[in-house]
This record gives sequence, C-alpha cells and structure tokens, in this order.
Amino acid sequence: MIGGGLLGLEAAAGLNAQGMDVTVLHLMPTLMERQLDPAAGYLLQKAVKARGIKVITKANTKAILGEARLTASSSRTARSCPADMVVMAVGIRPNSGSPRKPALPSIAASSSMTA
Ligand SMILES: Cc1cc2nc3c(=O)[nH]c(=O)nc-3n(C[C@H](O)[C@H](O)[C@H](O)COP(=O)(O)OP(=O)(O)OC[C@H]3O[C@@H](n4cnc5c(N)ncnc54)[C@H](O)[C@@H]3O)c2cc1C
Repeated sequence: MIGGGLLGLEAAAGLNAQGMDVTVLHLMPTLMERQLDPAAGYLLQKAVKARGIKVITKANTKAILGEARLTASSSRTARSCPADMVVMAVGIRPNSGSPRKPALPSIAASSSMTA
C-alpha cells in the first residue's frame, strides 16, 4: 500500500483482514499527518502494527518495477519491497495556481452589461 492516509489505512486493514501480508509505504514521518498530530500518528502506527500490518515511514516511492515488484527508496537508505499487488492511495491536491487565461469574464465586464 502506497500512502498511509485515511483511505490507504482503510484498504490496508481490509486486505490484512483478508489474510494478506500488507506493508504500508508512507511518505511522511507519521501516519495520517493531515488529520493527526505526530503523537496521535505515532499511537495510530502502533495500533496498525499490532494488527500485523508493516509500516515504513519516510518512504518516498521512486518506481514500480517489473510485473509485480515495487521499489521504494527512503530519504536515508534505498530499499526495495517485493509485492504481488500494489495499491496507491496518496490523496489529491488542488491545482490552485493562477490560470494564464481566466475562463470566466472579469467582474468589470459583467457589471457593465447589467448596468
Ligand atoms: C479541511 C478538510 C476537512 C475535511 N473534513 C472531512 C470530514 O469532516 N469528513 C470526511 O469524511 N472527510 C473530510 N475531508 C476529506 C478527507 O480528508 C479526505 O476525503 C481523505 O483524507 C481522503 O483520504 P486519502 O487517503 O485519499 O488522502 P489523504 O488523507 O490525503 O492521504 C494521502 C496520504 O498519502 C501520503 N502520500 C502522498 N504521496 C505519497 C507518496 N508518494 N508515497 C507515500 N505516501 C504518500 C500523504 O502523506 C497522505 O498522508 C476533509 C478534507 C479537508 C481538506
């Protein structure tokens, strides 16, 4: 599982409950960092591990190689993680940069039409 956010951990728990050997590769130092502070993220990681799910934090996945082999490298040491299946749940980010050409007419142009 790539991504230790809300959906990634839910999927990891579901796959683990089906009897699969699950490893979560998470980018940040603690799980669910968008919702939890580091202390709560640490406690969550302990609870996840207690279910038999492996967790690797600070894991910046570089490539998925071969038919069914995932290679992840952390900022400190490169390591590979063999897998039969890879699931990604890395969230979404809005593209909030300013558009070069606005799709909507300016306020000044619309107000002159209604005046
Ligand atoms: C302000 C706000 C309030 C919200 N309130 C609610 C609410 O009240 N109720 C509700 O149901 N939903 C709420 N949501 C929505 C909810 O947060 C999202 O639906 C949910 O977090 C999506 O889960 P996710 O796992 O897809 O993404 P995320 O929670 O974003 O998790 C993705 C994780 O993947 C990690 N990641 C990113 N890239 C990589 C990588 N390359 N390798 C490994 N890991 C990576 C990130 O560090 C992150 O932890 C809210 C969202 C926001 C922004």
